[in-house]
Amino acid sequence: MAQIPSFADVEAAAQRLRGHAHRTPVMRSRMLDAEVGAQIFLKCENLQRMGAFKFRGAFNALSQFTPAQRSGGVVAFSSGNHAQAVALSARMLGMPAVIVMPQDAPASKIEATRGYGAEVLLYDRYTEDREAIGQRLAQERGMTLIPPFDHADVIAGQGTAALELLQDHGPLDALFVCVGGGGLIAGSALSAHALAPQCRVYGVEPEAGNDVQQSLASGERVQIPVPVTIADGAQTQQVGRLTFPIIQRHVHAIVTASDAQLVEGMRFMAAYLKLVVEPTGCLGLAAVRAMASQLRGQRVGVILSGGNIDMPRFCALLQPAEKP
Ligand SMILES: *Cc1c(COP(=O)(O)O)cnc(C)c1O
Repeated sequence: MAQIPSFADVEAAAQRLRGHAHRTPVMRSRMLDAEVGAQIFLKCENLQRMGAFKFRGAFNALSQFTPAQRSGGVVAFSSGNHAQAVALSARMLGMPAVIVMPQDAPASKIEATRGYGAEVLLYDRYTEDREAIGQRLAQERGMTLIPPFDHADVIAGQGTAALELLQDHGPLDALFVCVGGGGLIAGSALSAHALAPQCRVYGVEPEAGNDVQQSLASGERVQIPVPVTIADGAQTQQVGRLTFPIIQRHVHAIVTASDAQLVEGMRFMAAYLKLVVEPTGCLGLAAVRAMASQLRGQRVGVILSGGNIDMPRFCALLQPAEKP
């Protein structure tokens, strides 16, 4: 079985990312601090390359390919930010990339992935198995498959966002991180444990799909049906094999946020910080606002994980619901 990464791997990833990933800004808001009664530090991964933290993990993984792997190239399956992260990293490192995407993925995402120079292979999500397609490509074309979260180099790369936040604004009393398959929070927890051992790390899942919360309670990786939520980056059905033990060891608790809370977070970020954050990216912020009474007087970090959302969709979500 693949190795579980350590904090040393996160530090090594930070070296590899230097000069390639943005050291994203950390924003403050007096209004948010006043509302929560705490000092809130917002790590803006919506301003990362390609619009999400996923660039960190993808670039860290691809930059460690052997020359033979580089010439074969990389394959990934994703309809979301991992697709663009792998496509951009492959282009920067000069290797071929094939991204396996569902036929009914939004045209804008397919376009964006092609725009980064990747070959997009479409499949029918109702009749075909994307993992099987990925494995076959890997075998037939000699490509290396990079999964979106359950990979040591991906986890280590994702941990560099919290590493930067703690280097620039630590120590923190609490850190809030959104959770899909757990790559971001596992890496973040490695950084927090090493740099701020007193810092409580909270994972935030959509209310509609709390599989990691259930998994921590039962001690096993619970699988759930695809959750129906606007947080499309966190619609995962099961936490990773490698990410789960790190979460078990270093994460204080998993909490949830509703779609309505995510929309309020998006509205707040746009209105007061002038930032576009996608629904999944608001999970941490939503939890902090809901848990204000437990955070009074503390230094609290929040990772805003991404900002990729079509403008018509963004506007539609912020539109007040019509009165019946
Ligand atoms: C992928 C993604 C997540 C979830 O990350 P995991 O590592 O799967 O837990 C959260 N937010 C955004 C914007 C994402 O793209």
